[in-house]
Order: sequence, then structure tokens, then C-alpha cells
Amino acid sequence: MDKNDRCSLCGRPRKDVGILFQGVNGNVCDDCIRRGYEILKEEEQFKKEKPAKGIKLKKPKEIKAFLDDYVIGQDFAKKVLSVAVYNHYKRICQEKNDVDIEKSNIIMVGETGTGKTLLAKTIAKMLNVPFAIVDATVLTEAGYVGEDIESLLTRLLQAADYDVASAEQGIVFIDEIDKIARKGDNPSITRDVSGEGVQQGLLKLLEGSIVNVPPQGGRKHPEQKMIAVDTKNILFICGGAFEGLDKIIARRMNTQVVGYGTQKNIEKIDSKNMLQYVIPEDIRKFGLIPEIVGRLPVLAYLNPLDREALRQILTEPKNSIVNQYIKLFKIDGIDIKFEEAALDYIVDQAISFKLGARGLRSICESIMLEAMFEMPSENKKTFTVTKEYAESKLDKTAAIKFRNA
Ligand code: ADP
Repeated sequence: MDKNDRCSLCGRPRKDVGILFQGVNGNVCDDCIRRGYEILKEEEQFKKEKPAKGIKLKKPKEIKAFLDDYVIGQDFAKKVLSVAVYNHYKRICQEKNDVDIEKSNIIMVGETGTGKTLLAKTIAKMLNVPFAIVDATVLTEAGYVGEDIESLLTRLLQAADYDVASAEQGIVFIDEIDKIARKGDNPSITRDVSGEGVQQGLLKLLEGSIVNVPPQGGRKHPEQKMIAVDTKNILFICGGAFEGLDKIIARRMNTQVVGYGTQKNIEKIDSKNMLQYVIPEDIRKFGLIPEIVGRLPVLAYLNPLDREALRQILTEPKNSIVNQYIKLFKIDGIDIKFEEAALDYIVDQAISFKLGARGLRSICESIMLEAMFEMPSENKKTFTVTKEYAESKLDKTAAIKFRNA
């Protein structure tokens, strides 16, 4: 029989197949095409379900130990995050047709500079997944000046080098989520451009849906072709300082305590750190709509940093500020040391200027500027930062600058 009259893949003759598609150098039958199509579909589905390349899934205890290397204190938040992240990625890896585990986005409340962003960043580093930080304050409803909500995902796509499958398993940290709270408990009559409307938009992303994302972001490139991104497996971590939340918590707890009428309960409350008593209802009262609160089921609080914590932050984390200076100088062949008294002095200054952990870095920069400028051109191979040196460098101008910061 003419070899051109049979399927080049399965070899069956024309009379035994439905349709024989004729090519230049061979033919394919309808059955082979159908099978090929099925294989392709399976392959695509498999790619979608398998976790992004390189996700290192660790147990909650290992995750916390990793966080301990970079973040000081905040044990509660670390535990909550470790479990949530572990469950999230377990959920992604689970076999289909199993019990559907629901997504658990996270909300962290804590004063500014207590480590919220650092925690989220460290988790992304550990998992080796794309990570984007976005500020909720720049988001506005579509049609208003500002960024569209979809732009959150543009950053994530960029972090993933436009590998959509990998971005779809990434982490987005939404900072200052408290700034899009509804002002006051009553919905306003005037349009709430950056408040409730944005929350409604965010809801869609948090729930998990397919969103058309402008790859270049913004509205400057109207011709750009949108990329469809499924947010079902993207972990959203929101953070905010929620100024005034402590009062909401206190009010709730006071009424509860009065209700039970026991003096003992009142005494047990640690009024200096009210955030530790936070419940989702408080966040709702603060001004996040109930649907958003419901989509952020994991709630963690961060403790304010005390003197001891600030002191540890200077030297203990793997990439602590002090270690970074040591490394910087080492590149020029210079060994630098920080006297204990100098470190205590830096912490004292950060506390007196009320700058928290964020201030440690800027204070160190002011102190080290002169040395970083002069020493690379000198022959000295060792240098010790003493308290006196630190004091002399953090001169009056710097002090005034920080006081007004
Ligand atoms: P937040 O997001 O809570 O406002 P960040 O995580 O951005 O605060 O913290 C600001 C900086 O302060 C970080 O880059 C880090 O150097 C330092 N820092 C804050 N909290 C901690 C902490 N608990 N452990 C180690 N460093 C911290």
C-alpha cells in the first residue's frame, strides 16, 4: 500500500481512520490529533498546579527558625506567619479533588518600624518566590488619579520576570492597609476615592479571581496588551500601624470587663500593649469593610520594640546594620569594631528621637559618614567606633534633623 495513504504516527491505513490530515511529508489521523491534544492539555494543567520552581517548603518550626535569623522578637507574629505560610503552600501542592483548603491571607498590625515588612520580605526570601511590596495609599478606584488596583500585580509580574505561573504563586505585601480604611463608621455621601472603593477593588484580588494586569503598570501605555493573572494562589500579606486601634480595643475590653464585673480582669490587661488583644471585629470598627476582614483570616500583632530589642537589632540579625558596616569596610581591607558603649549610645539616640528601629540605620549613617569618606584613601587597617567618636559625629545638626524627622 502507498505509504502516503496511512497515518505517519500510528501507521493505520486511511480506510481505518476517520479523517486523515495530509501534510507535506506525511499524514496524521484524527485519533492521533485527539490524543496529542489531550496530552497537551494534561501537560498545561500539570504546569499550572505544580508549585513554582524552587519553592522550598519547610515545616512551620523551620520557617520560624529562619525568621529568627533575621527578625528580632515578635515570636507570636512569627508563629502565626509560619503556620499560615506553611498551610498556604501545602494547599497549593495538594492533590486535586481533595478537601478544598481555603486560602488564608494575612493581616499584621503593629507600630511602624517593628518589622512587618521585614517579616514578609524574609518569608519570600526563604521560599524563593516572587515578592512585591506595594503601598495601599497610592491605590485609587479606576478613573481617579493614582494607581489602579491591578497595578499591585504588575509589580509581582515584574518581580517574576513576567513568568505568569511563578507570579501566580508569589507573595504581595500591601503596606499601610489602614490608610484605606473608611473614615468614620458611616459610609460617606461624597465619593470615597481612596477608601471604600479601593477596598472593594482589593476584595476581588484577595478572594482569588482572574485579573487583567497591565504589564507596564499605570495608565501611560494604553496600547499595552493585558496579561491575565489568576490570584487564587497568591498570598496577600497586609500590614498597617492602625493608629488609634488600641483605643478601639480598650473600649471593647472595658465594656466586656464591666459586663463581667470582675476587678481581676481589669488588672490583667497590659495597657501598654493593647494590640496583643486585637480581634477581627476591632479591624472592622477601624474602618475596613467586613468582606475584607473576612478575606484576611490570619491576624497577627507585632509588639512595640523596647530598648533591649533595638540593641539586638543592631548586632544580632544575619544582616544586622553592624554586620553590614563590617562587610563594607572589609572590602577595603579595613577591620572595624564597634565599642559596646557606642552601640548603647546609638540605641539611646534612636529612643530619644522616637525613631524606633528605622532610626538606627540613619543614626549609624550619620556617625559613619566621615569614616566611609576618609578611610578608603588612608592606610589605616583597623578602626574602632567608640562612644566619644559616635557622639562627636552625631553633631547638633544631625540631632536637630532627627528630632524633626
Ligand atoms: P514596618 O514594616 O513594621 O513599618 P520594617 O519591617 O520596614 O517596619 O522595619 C524597618 C527596619 O527596621 C527594617 O529594615 C529593619 O532593619 C529594622 N527592624 C524593625 N523591626 C525589626 C525586628 N523585629 N528585627 C530586626 N530588625 C527590625
